This record gives sequence, structure tokens and C-alpha cells, in this order.
Amino acid sequence: MVQAAATGQLIAEFEAHFASSKAMYDRAGESIAGGIVHDGRLQKPFPIYISHADGAYKYDLDGRRIIDYAMGHGSLILGHGDPEVRVALHAQIDKGTHFGSGHEGEIRWAEQIGAMVPSAERVRFVASGTEANLLAMRLARSHTGRNTILKFEGHFHGWSDYVMKSERPPFESPTVAAVPDDVLRTVATVPANNIEMLAERMSQGDVAAILVEPSGGSWGSIPLDADFLTALREIATMAGAVLIFDEVITGFRWAPGGAQQRFGVTPDVTSMAKIVAGGLPGGAIAGREEIMAYLEFRSEPGWAKRKIIHQGTFNANPLTAAAGVTCLTKCANPAVQEHCDRLAAQIRTAVNVTLDKRGLPGCAWGASSVFHIILDETPTNRASGDLHHPVGIAPERLKASAKAGRSAPLALAMQLEGVDLFAGGGMLSVRHTDEDVGFTLSAFGCALDRLEADGYFA
Ligand code: PMP
Repeated sequence: MVQAAATGQLIAEFEAHFASSKAMYDRAGESIAGGIVHDGRLQKPFPIYISHADGAYKYDLDGRRIIDYAMGHGSLILGHGDPEVRVALHAQIDKGTHFGSGHEGEIRWAEQIGAMVPSAERVRFVASGTEANLLAMRLARSHTGRNTILKFEGHFHGWSDYVMKSERPPFESPTVAAVPDDVLRTVATVPANNIEMLAERMSQGDVAAILVEPSGGSWGSIPLDADFLTALREIATMAGAVLIFDEVITGFRWAPGGAQQRFGVTPDVTSMAKIVAGGLPGGAIAGREEIMAYLEFRSEPGWAKRKIIHQGTFNANPLTAAAGVTCLTKCANPAVQEHCDRLAAQIRTAVNVTLDKRGLPGCAWGASSVFHIILDETPTNRASGDLHHPVGIAPERLKASAKAGRSAPLALAMQLEGVDLFAGGGMLSVRHTDEDVGFTLSAFGCALDRLEADGYFA
């Protein structure tokens, strides 16, 4: 494990450099529970605060430029303030932001999703990724008449009661704070990439749905084996269970049609949020007509017992719909994903080469337009450069890498150098350039200097 900082110089410099953020954080603590609005934004000694953003950059309270790799938690594949999304939003604001009635924007948005996502025979809108998965699970339960949801260790699907089990290490923990045991008993979890354990659990015959993040837990921080998704498709079909892809991150990022298009595996139901909503709050689910039909009102006998209830004040509100349609129309051009993928691969490769040259522990890995960095353990295959699957590091350690060990000081050092990583890594946008990547890699070198000077590698 990592030694405590020998000198504390990094923290001292961070506190001095971001003094305005410290003042803001102190103020936040007086009114906001915990001082932050998303657990993932926890940063010690304090998080940085942003005044505005544009393209690939955001600016701190003192107006200093920071290259952003959080990109709206992955929702801003077009970058901050995409000109066309802005025009669409301005036009919609003048027309109204909520009609409490249907509007053409929601239909255009559904049509656009249907045109891009292979599994999308029917679409329904929700307000977030958490809600998308809730609705997907409810549909699966209605369709199969079974209760159990099967998910994978380390896979994040939002913060609802059902999906918290085995989300973070220790994966085998039988309890989750404030989530009733009765709820947890309706969720089965198995390790990812283990077909035998999966098949064995499925043989009990009670699984309504297999829920999977198709890149692997937490946007591929625990990568899936190449043929795992194909196996899931076969196993779900054989068991009569619904296969749900949670494409909240991978949707429109892994390919215009998401991971399902990139891997050629079509799920029954797809959960979406982030990019689908063009950088505004929103989400959607899409799926086979036969399953989505449980949202319909029908007069046939017994239907009322299976028709699922679904409401939500802000579902497909006109503002989000306008941003969503505009963003997706742009994302239909594969040049968007290709650009982001190319830059992420450059970062992954260069980080590994740098660490190798300097003889420091760690690696960068990932797929598509994301990268993850760990500085505590070295996989046996680091020399191969652009890693998808770091060999020899346990899934628990990969998942914990976002904040644990040297990731926390690395994040501070990178912010001092003008780069904001996201959960120990990042996501690219079309607004990031080769120059930005060059800047980021020099910043990484300087950040390593800071960590070494401060005794983090001692
Ligand atoms: N599923 C996945 C795969 C996610 O990454 C996230 C959020 N990062 C969610 C669901 C939850 O989405 P939201 O924050 O919109 O509720």
C-alpha cells in the first residue's frame, strides 16, 4: 500500500493554489449535506469549484483553464457548450420548458434513438440513468413473472436500492447501509467473466433479468472478456431471462449505436442516460416491442396485473428533448466516436510508456474513449502499451483505483497542472485536440515529479 506523504508539500501547494475553492467548500458545508452533491465528487482536502466551461476546458474560480476529463460525467461527448445544442436549447427556452402535454420533440427524440440503437424497437423516457435501470428491471419482472435480478460484482447501475449490492469492494458484503435485506435478497450477484458461476446461478430458474454494464464495471474499469457478452446473450435466451445492457456510459460513445453495435450483441432492453440527453438531465430505455408493451394500457383480461406503472414529471421535457435530438443527430456520425477513441488510446499508451520508462508502478487501461489510471500495481502486460485488460490486478483493486492509493494525490497534482481527471481517469470529447492530449501527458509527467518529490513513491 501507499506510504503517507513524506512532506505534505503537494497538499500545501494545492491548498494555496485553490484557496478560492476552499472558501467555497467551507461555505457549502453550511448548507449542503456533506458539502458535495454527488459522492463521486468527494476530494480531500476539498474539491475544486468551477466558474464556467467551454469545449474541452473548464475554468476555476480564478479563471484558470483546466482540461476537463469528467465531461459532465461522460454526458458531454460533444464537449461543453456545443454550438448546435446551445442553439436548440435557446430556441426551446423561448417556446417553453414543460407543457405537461405531449410535444413533437419527444417523438423526434424517440425516432432518433430508434434509428441508432439496434435494440430500440420502442423507447420510453425517464429522468436519469438510475431511473432507466429501475424501469428496465420492472419491465423484466413483469415480462417474466420472476423477481430476481442478476448483476455483476463491481458494476454500477445508479444509486437505487436494487443495484447497490456488490457494487463496491468488498463485493461479498451481504449488507448495504439502509437498504433492506428483503430487497437485497431479490438481487443475485456473480463475478464478471465467470460463465460457470453465472450458468449455475441461472439454473435456479428465478432470474428475471441479467443486468450488465457492457464495458465492464464502472465504464470498463473491470473489463469484460471479449466473448462474455455473447455468452450472456445465449444464457439469457436459454433461461428465458431479459438481457439488459446498461448503456448509460457506453451509449453513443462505444459506437453511434453503443456497445451493442460495437460488439454485435443485441440486448432485449437498453438503459440510457448521459449522452442520450445531450448534457441535460434525462434518460431513456429502449427495447423489444414485446417487452416494452408492458407499459401499454390494454383492455384484455388480466392485463392490469402486468401493466407496469410509470410516471415522472420531467420525462422527455422539451428542453432535454431538444438537447437530446441535436446531440444524437451529431453522434450518428462515427467520426465523433473515432476521434474520441483515438485520443484516449494515445493517453493510455503514453501513460504506460512513461511509467515504464520511469520504473514506476501502475498503468493506464480502458476501451473506446475512456481511460483509467492506477499507480499502485503493475500488470504483467504493461509493456504492450494500449491496455484493455490489465493482467494480474484483482477486480477489487481495479474498481477501487478511482480514489484509493496514489490516485487521490495524482488527482490533486493533475489539477495543479491544469487537468481534471474523473474518478482516476477520464472520458474524451470531440472538443479535445491532439494539443490537449500533449498538454495532458506533460502534466502527467509533472504530476509524477510532484508525487516523487513529495515521497509518495518512497
Ligand atoms: N449506470 C451507469 C453505467 C452509470 O455509469 C451511471 C452514472 N454514472 C448510472 C447508471 C446512473 O446514472 P444517473 O447518475 O443518471 O442516475
